[in-house]
Amino acid sequence: MLSCFAFSASSFALGPQAAPWVEQVAERLRRYAGLEARAARAQAVAELLALLQAPPAGDATPPPERVERPAAVPPPAPAGERLGLDAPLTSLQGVGRARAQRLARLGLRSIRDLLYFFPRRHDDYSQFKPIRRLEYGENATIIAKVVRAGLHQTRTGGVLFRALLSDGSGSIEATWFNQPRLANRIQVGQQLVVSGKVNEYLGRPCLSSPQWEKLEEEHLHTGRLVPVYPLTEGINANWLRRQMKRAVDYWSKRLPDHLPGWIRDEQGLLDLETAIVQAHFPDSPELLRRANQRLAFDELFALQVGLQRLRRQWRSEAGQPLEVPGDALEAFVASLPYPLTGAQRRALESIVADLRGQQPMGRLLQGDVGSGKTVVAAAAMALTAAAGAQAVLMAPTEILAEQHFRTLSRLFERAPGRAPRVALLTGSVDGAEREAVYVGLADGSVDVAVGTHALIQAGVAFRNLALVVIDEQHRFGVRQRAALRQKGYNPHLLVMTATPIPRSLQLAVWGHMDVSVIDELPPGRQPIETRVVTPALRERAYRFVENQIAQGRQAFIICPLVEESEKIEAKAAVEEHARLQREVFPHLRLGLLHGRMPSDDKEAAMARFMRGELDILVSTAVVEVGVDVPNATVMLIEGANRFGLAQLHQFRGRVGRGEHRSYCLLFSDSDSPESNERLEAIATIHDGFALAQKDLEMRGPGEFLGTRQAGLPELRFARFSDLPMIEAAREAACRLLELDPELAHPDHRLLARQVARLWEGRSAPAIETGEGDIS
Ligand code: ADP
Ligand code: MG
Repeated sequence: MLSCFAFSASSFALGPQAAPWVEQVAERLRRYAGLEARAARAQAVAELLALLQAPPAGDATPPPERVERPAAVPPPAPAGERLGLDAPLTSLQGVGRARAQRLARLGLRSIRDLLYFFPRRHDDYSQFKPIRRLEYGENATIIAKVVRAGLHQTRTGGVLFRALLSDGSGSIEATWFNQPRLANRIQVGQQLVVSGKVNEYLGRPCLSSPQWEKLEEEHLHTGRLVPVYPLTEGINANWLRRQMKRAVDYWSKRLPDHLPGWIRDEQGLLDLETAIVQAHFPDSPELLRRANQRLAFDELFALQVGLQRLRRQWRSEAGQPLEVPGDALEAFVASLPYPLTGAQRRALESIVADLRGQQPMGRLLQGDVGSGKTVVAAAAMALTAAAGAQAVLMAPTEILAEQHFRTLSRLFERAPGRAPRVALLTGSVDGAEREAVYVGLADGSVDVAVGTHALIQAGVAFRNLALVVIDEQHRFGVRQRAALRQKGYNPHLLVMTATPIPRSLQLAVWGHMDVSVIDELPPGRQPIETRVVTPALRERAYRFVENQIAQGRQAFIICPLVEESEKIEAKAAVEEHARLQREVFPHLRLGLLHGRMPSDDKEAAMARFMRGELDILVSTAVVEVGVDVPNATVMLIEGANRFGLAQLHQFRGRVGRGEHRSYCLLFSDSDSPESNERLEAIATIHDGFALAQKDLEMRGPGEFLGTRQAGLPELRFARFSDLPMIEAAREAACRLLELDPELAHPDHRLLARQVARLWEGRSAPAIETGEGDIS
């Protein structure tokens, strides 16, 4: 686009002293065509405009007689500087197109990327042990020279690569089985860094299949902690380390710090330049730790600034304060068939306070399976109706919507005064019936609507929608929730989830919402007896299921999670269903449920199971959400090791909902001690929150929240389980936004960019609608 400018020194009638300026302009124009990143192009244009506005003095001053030297030419900065940190890597010395392409495979495109491309680990070269001091059984790292190396046939027909390593203090043999290519890579005379477990072979120490790398001389000279970067084909460690060193040395000084100084001081954090330098080439383990700490804080802080801005936006809109008389609340609670638990009561009181408030409620109601969230929502909806407004409850499936409809109808029948009128709206409600619901919602004769996605269709209009309740929120997309909210005037929003979310993760991901937790089960619940079943006991477990069914009960059988695709998973479920029907339970009635079935068929299978027309429901993970089948007493889970603890706990919550004693049987298809330790945890821990915390620690948040919930910002340094740091970041973010809500102050411009960068990956609607859910 810029090529339409035609330039030459003469067209401006500039004197010869302008030649360098013209050259600069021309150079920028030439480069422009090669710039791909939008930011880089924008910057190039800005620089160009700046240059054009300040041409060297032209005609007005007569050209000097003699031009001593081209003083206007800036000292030769590395090429990248012209574009700053957004310059492409090709602007670095030694990086051509081919190398740049390889680096792109590592996600590296600009100089900034390079500064933020951190080592996988640091090798501590002070930790090496002389061979003479190695002890059997220890994990050790040595630096040694290859004295002898070669391939050998083994008696079993394999090949063994053996290398004798010596470091002057002694020697040790290292062996690698079936890696013949090592013969080309490890040669006599080389220095290697080798680490592994010291074993004993024929009375002598040896290393079997240790990790190894060639020693680069400069390792020893660059300090004790040497960065080890991820590599890709065609990029070798030495070369990359040299490039990194050069880039970090030069560019870290030119990287402005986005974190306001007072926050840095308060938190005792390193400045950004030091943090970047130390994260790559640390002077000491302590500085490395502090660099990591600073970078972790940056991540969490940017996340919190984003969340808190959402919260402020949300709360800046006027809501609909509802007039909920105190005695209406008491009267409703008194009409319930059971007393509320203390936790239910507290949650309800917070919700009512929100409903009365001037600002729209944005509240997450968390409670373990069976903790009684529905009745809390029912009370909120009844009170909304009593205040003359409408409420809706949206559930992810028809089965659940119908279940809620029945529960609400029952509860409202007993309500004091005029009972709120409830209507059901799902895909199956059609014709005149649907018309009647539409009319009732539009004219206000229906107070409470319960339904599925059908609620957000275009034809649905409310007279005065003031409260939106969403059950099992992770099944809904952000867009759908936004659509529902738009049917009212900034209605209050209550989101219910049965996934217990540890507090740290809650603050990190749902930090913009208020949270109520129901952390107490209604009295009298029997714990569900949970067993890890070893393969030898499989038959017995099946007979146990049969026995329960003979007593009139029902069972769920969950098929293993298949990561690759829903299609393969569905196929596996179909096969398992057929196998069980044919070989294991030929006389019983088995149903099938998987994600690839049309939703009508899914609903039908579920409905048959609920009516008792099926003895066993064979299902993939789709059954997880809150259905209530009080007659089901066995939850048998195949491949239990593949599920997260939180998810297993959800499955388990599907039984034990009636008066019968219930069981959860966990089959494992792994014999790794670690995954079986996880299963033992679920057998002994019945509290969803304790399990969730354990799950988060053991598997990290991505796994914890499930792959469905991609879009969780990626944290490189911080941990979602680091509560103290998350709290500190949140607090600092709140105070900063108090001072400068829009981050409009020039000092905060860089921070605003940093926040935008972190939130880039997240779907835009999540940001616009202020719903931190990430489905
Ligand atoms: P969830 O939180 O999993 O959605 P539900 O709302 O479905 O739980 O409640 C589970 C069961 O507990 C329901 O049968 C409900 O009637 C019952 N329940 C809820 N609250 C209480 C209470 N305070 N005392 C006794 N039973 C209760
Ligand atoms: Mg529920």
